Parts: sequence; C-alpha cells; structure tokens
Amino acid sequence: MSTLPRQSPQAYPIERIRADFPALRQQIRGKPLVYLDNAASAQKPKQVIDTLAEFYRHDFSNIHRSVHTLGERATARYEASRDTVRRFLNAAAVEEIVFVRGTTEAINLVAQSFGRSRFREGDEIVISAMEHHSNIVPWQMVCRQTGARLKVAPIDEDGALIVEEYQRLLGPRTKLVAIAHMSNALGTLNPAGELIDMAHARGIPVLLDGAQAAPHVKVDVQALDCDFYAFSGHKLYGPTGIGVLYGKRKLLEAMPPWQGGGEMIRTVTFERTEYNDLPYKFEAGTPAIAEAVGLGAAIEYIEGIGWETIAAHEHALIEYATARALEIPGLRIIGTAGEKGAILSFTLERIHPHDIGTFLDHYGIAVRAGHHCAMPVMDFFQVPATARASFGIYNTHEEVDQLMDAIREIIKVFG
Ligand code: PLP
Repeated sequence: MSTLPRQSPQAYPIERIRADFPALRQQIRGKPLVYLDNAASAQKPKQVIDTLAEFYRHDFSNIHRSVHTLGERATARYEASRDTVRRFLNAAAVEEIVFVRGTTEAINLVAQSFGRSRFREGDEIVISAMEHHSNIVPWQMVCRQTGARLKVAPIDEDGALIVEEYQRLLGPRTKLVAIAHMSNALGTLNPAGELIDMAHARGIPVLLDGAQAAPHVKVDVQALDCDFYAFSGHKLYGPTGIGVLYGKRKLLEAMPPWQGGGEMIRTVTFERTEYNDLPYKFEAGTPAIAEAVGLGAAIEYIEGIGWETIAAHEHALIEYATARALEIPGLRIIGTAGEKGAILSFTLERIHPHDIGTFLDHYGIAVRAGHHCAMPVMDFFQVPATARASFGIYNTHEEVDQLMDAIREIIKVFG
C-alpha cells in the first residue's frame, strides 16, 4: 500500500467545497457518485447555478442595445464578468477579452481571422504531438485555405514535449506557435514561458490552448507574455457555451472580424460596413449572456478557495493516485511527465478501456474512456484508447481508493 498520506497537506476545506456541488450528492447504481471526469467537464457549484437562476429571474435582457433598465442591468453584469475574466488572466485591458463559445471557437477564431489573413504558401504553424483535435483541425483547415504547412513538435515516451526539437522547428517561415498549456490526454504541463520565449526570440507569436490548464494553475497572460490564450467555462466549474479568447490588443486590432452580424458593427450601408471596437468586433450576434455572467461567478468561486490551496490539493491527489496505480499489476500509466496536472490516463492488460469505463460506472465512478479527442497521442503510445481519471477541487483521497479498489475488481473479473 502507498506510503503517501491519504489526505491533502494542509487544512483543505473539502467538506465545505463538496457541499457546494449538488450533483455530487447523488447515488449512481446504488453507490455514491465518484466524479472523475473533470477534464471533460466539471460539475457546477451552487454559487454558479444560483447566479444563473437569479440572473434569469431578475436581470435578463439582451445587452448593449436597450436603454431600458433590464437592458442596462444585463449589460452591466455581462461587462462586469468580462472584467472578472480580465483580472483572472491578469490581462492588461478588457478590450483583450473576447467572449466565445469555448476553446474550440477561440482557436477557430484565431485560425480564420489571424491565420487566414496572414498565412501564405509555404508558411509554417508549429503545434505539438500532444494537441487536442481542437488545436489541430482548425490549423489544418487554414493550411488548406492558404497553402501554409503544419509542423509537429514531438513528445517523448513520458509524454513530455521534446523542447530542443520544438526549438529546431522554429524558423523564418514559422508564423505562429499553437500549443497546449496542459495536455488533456496525458496531463503534461508544458513549460509555457520557456516555449514562448523561444518563439518570441524569432518574432513568432504564440497561442496557448488553456482548456486544461486554466482550471488548475494560476494563469498570468502578462507574465507568460503569450499572444493568445483560449479556455472554456465548463471545465472551470462554469456554464457550457461560454469561453474566452484573450489576445494582445495590438494583434486583435489588426485582425479582421471572422463572423459578420449584429453587435460587431458600428455602421452598415449596403455599400460598406464599419466594424465595431474591440472586443465587440469579434462578438457577432447575441452572445451567451447568462453563461458569461455564470462564468464570472465560477471564477470568483475558485478564486475564493485560492490557487495555491487548489494546486496543493490536486498535486497531493495525483501523487497519491499515481503511487496507488503503480501498485496494480498490468496497469500502464500513459503520461508520466515530470510536470503534470491531476490527470491519470491508463490502460489495463487485455481489458479494453471502454469496458473499464462501463465497469467503473457500475461502482458509481465516472471516468472517460476513449481517445480523448487526441488520436495522434493514442497512435504515439500505440493504444486504441485509454481510461482517464481526472481530478478536481472536490475529489478526495477516499475516491482514489474507491477507484483503485474497483480497478482491482475489474482485473479479477476480466483480467
Ligand atoms: N483543448 C484541450 C486541451 C481540451 O482538453 C479541450 C476539451 O477537452 C479542448 C481544447 C476543447 O474544449 P471545448 O470543447 O470546450 O471547446
């Protein structure tokens, strides 16, 4: 049995946090729910659920268009949330915060606006071998449109980026680096600051896919000096349908809009249209108003716990889970980088990951089984899929024990 402590190092307010999440108080197949699918999407605290309900009850209206009281209230709350996001990312200005549907839309926006207007035949975009499909396919699409080419920085057997190889790919034709801050399939945390410095030394802008990192590490876009940062609200204990693209003001100002419609214009005639200022230039149509307000509530909720507290708790959980997993014969951990977040991807000898996922559900344990929208990672490790347990602020060491006991049961039954 692992000698690591079965609890987080400091007085972590686990009971209070768990009590905030109504979804955790249910039984699945007669067992208490153990929710370990946070990398796909996190559960919501009552503070977020109540904010959404209360916003719809009292303040809802369309925004930026009405002089009536509800219009003003809804606009004020939507824009206050933008400022919460600005503070969360430590961005210099609210104009640099664009509300989108999620990470996928943010990356597509950069590909279709920044990329399509700037990339030329023979230009190169550098990504890595651990990317989510959302940070591969939009670049392939813009490559087809412009004649640019995708270059892929390799990873090693631990699932860590080979930084020297990445650096060698950066050249005079590189027009953008787009890389995961943290991998969803492996848990690897990339040395973002170092990668950005290397790119900037050659004048190359960098987009960080922060879908996985934003819920787990303190992000400071000014300290990182990244040019674009993308994340999704639903993985950050917030609503679905809302996410953020951060972009440096200079870059966003120079970029053309990617969708046309209401809100993103200043004046329209049939002859020509004058576009609106930042960030509205990139927010065509009625946005996800309540969801943006809910995202603000989610950010305030996790900031209320504190980043250091969260990081220490999740670090203790993944260390403990890893140590316990290694005690199980036939269990292979996929993703063993030195720097990693609270994600345990694994396979079991002779048992398909989908069967693992289905079996665990009988124990009330929710994990993800599949390719995790990172098929090239599966190819690299020569596995069809993995089972993935991903931890969040409300998970406990007892839940890790339950997972490990259930895995031992699966091996007894199927192995
Ligand atoms: N990038 C990474 C690393 C992810 O893990 C995900 C979602 O799992 C995405 C991008 C896409 O996020 P969304 O589906 O919220 O747009």
